[in-house]
Amino acid sequence: MNYSKGELLYEGKAKRVYSVVDQNDVVWLEFKDSLTAFNAEKKAELDDKGPINRNIATYIFKYLADKDIGSHWLESPGERDMVCRKVEIIPLEVVVRNTLAGSTAKKFAIEEGTALEEPLVEFYYKKDELGDPFISDDQIIALKICDNKVVLDELKKRALRVNTELKALFAKANINLIDFKLEFGTLPNGDIVLSDEISPDSCRLWDMDSNEKMDKDRFRRDLGGVKEAYMNVYNRLLDVKSQ
Ligand code: UDP
Repeated sequence: MNYSKGELLYEGKAKRVYSVVDQNDVVWLEFKDSLTAFNAEKKAELDDKGPINRNIATYIFKYLADKDIGSHWLESPGERDMVCRKVEIIPLEVVVRNTLAGSTAKKFAIEEGTALEEPLVEFYYKKDELGDPFISDDQIIALKICDNKVVLDELKKRALRVNTELKALFAKANINLIDFKLEFGTLPNGDIVLSDEISPDSCRLWDMDSNEKMDKDRFRRDLGGVKEAYMNVYNRLLDVKSQ
């Protein structure tokens, strides 16, 4: 399909969203080089981060499509561009954890890197001005963020399926998938699909041998080598494909 980029609709922290000329049901996403953390209190520009994340997100959406997990992704035309089905984003950040890390490890005073016996799914209310607070299942229903419990259970089920597939994929790349964040959106026909992006900005990825961090924590914690780590993730995923 030939898509041409229309007008800017919205600029987010990591992406710009454009309309697509003569196509009301799709949007054009442009991956920026900006890196932000701590609710955008910490900001930087990193050359080529946009194209690297666009490549990784494209790889992952295609990989999941092959496993029958649909997403909003349609095509990736330019080096930092992605054409996606237009969705209404459900304002939840769906976090899956395999290993405790970051603020959660701190909150419960458990050593970062402690593996969980079973993956854990958590929801955060997506609202920048509130700093994306944790939200309980009952609160999601009471506040009508999801229509009903069936939809909420479906989100959990999907998130766990994505986890099973991605954990296996990253393991082949000798990477331990510690945790990650997903977003889902609703299509005009009511179907729910995986949306936004999956990249080292939204995942914690540790080298399986050294536990070295290969994700946005390198930026959050001033560890340096952010771009090299993201490139390394992509190159390892490409190696998996050619295996
Ligand atoms: N995450 C994200 N966007 C957010 C919050 C979290 O992509 O707004 C990702 C984060 O990169 C990590 C996972 O979700 O891979 C779990 O994050 P956590 O809740 O542990 O947050 P933190 O420790 O950074 O406060």
